[in-house]
Amino acid sequence: MEPFEKPIMVTRPLFPDLERYYAQLESVWESKWLSNNGPKHKELEAKLKSYIKATNISLFNNGTIALMVAVQSLRLQGEVITTPFTFPATTHVLAWNNITPVFCDIHPERLTIDPQKIESLITAKTTAILATHVYGIPCHVEEIQDIANRHGLKVIYDAAHAFTTEYKGRPIAEYGDISMFSFHPTKLFHTGEGGALVYNDPNLKERIEYLKNFGIKNEEEVILPGINGKMGELQASLGLEVIELVLEEQEKRRKIRKGYIDLLASVKTVVPLLMPSDTTNSYQYFCVRIESSTTPGDRRNKIFDALKVNNVFSRKYFYPLVSEYPCYKGSPTSSSGNLKEATEVSNEVLCLPFYGDLSFEDQKAIVRIIEDAS
Ligand SMILES: *Cc1c(COP(=O)(O)O)cnc(C)c1O
Repeated sequence: MEPFEKPIMVTRPLFPDLERYYAQLESVWESKWLSNNGPKHKELEAKLKSYIKATNISLFNNGTIALMVAVQSLRLQGEVITTPFTFPATTHVLAWNNITPVFCDIHPERLTIDPQKIESLITAKTTAILATHVYGIPCHVEEIQDIANRHGLKVIYDAAHAFTTEYKGRPIAEYGDISMFSFHPTKLFHTGEGGALVYNDPNLKERIEYLKNFGIKNEEEVILPGINGKMGELQASLGLEVIELVLEEQEKRRKIRKGYIDLLASVKTVVPLLMPSDTTNSYQYFCVRIESSTTPGDRRNKIFDALKVNNVFSRKYFYPLVSEYPCYKGSPTSSSGNLKEATEVSNEVLCLPFYGDLSFEDQKAIVRIIEDAS
């Protein structure tokens, strides 16, 4: 087989019809308003609020700054228990807030923080649990809330992969104190760059809004050491068009997911990750697990390389673990002895190209490459 002529990337952002984006921009030009809670921002915030059934929502210029503000708004300090199997931003926001990340191992099937292993990591300094709904698979939210209640801890979820996810019939962001969504172009719903915090306590709204705007209360009063986390009108305008495409994209991805599952059924060493029951799929990623043969990651890496040679770009997501980065490797909870499951999983996962316009023909060719390399 010949390599793909054009590269097949792991994802492809949604692009609305340019004419429609122009129309949005025309009203921005008329309003002469580019940032600071303008009309497009307000419209998108209201639309998203109902779209993901949020009780309270604040938009941001990106997900990482949103998470920074989440940590600040809950006045966290000391130590926070978190997962090493995540994107760098999850842990970096703790470091930027002078908080020590305490790494907890993950659950072997859900790949999210293992609630059984949280309590032994709690010390007098622990103030919160920060966990990620990996690939949109919900964390063990009830068990985590129980632990938090018993120890007086806050709970923040990195829900960057869980746009529209519902668990046991409830929107995912109803669980925990604050959830962060990212609207980066690699995410299903995006605003070019952007993000949001969703939270249950309406009393948090005021503090979060101050924190994302330098702590400015009015022309003469600055009451908090805030940051610039505001989403601008151009981003919000894009979001207003992209949101219209999400349902159809999810429907297309549902079929692509099924296509992969059917095609991969004959490749015994490559096992698609499934959603737990009671969970709606966000269709953010399509990931498989490939058990190692003789050395950690050997089979997964061979498939990754074979795809790459053929101009197909899959992603070892998440590899390496955050606890393996030089900036965190020295911390006491980074040892692979403490993180057995996470270490194994990070050597076995692979996210395959997954976007609405991926053709079935291309999928078949991708699976053939995988089959040949297995
Ligand atoms: C994308 C992502 C982020 C970062 O969001 P940005 O909007 O790019 O800042 C954080 N955590 C996870 C799990 C992500 O996938």
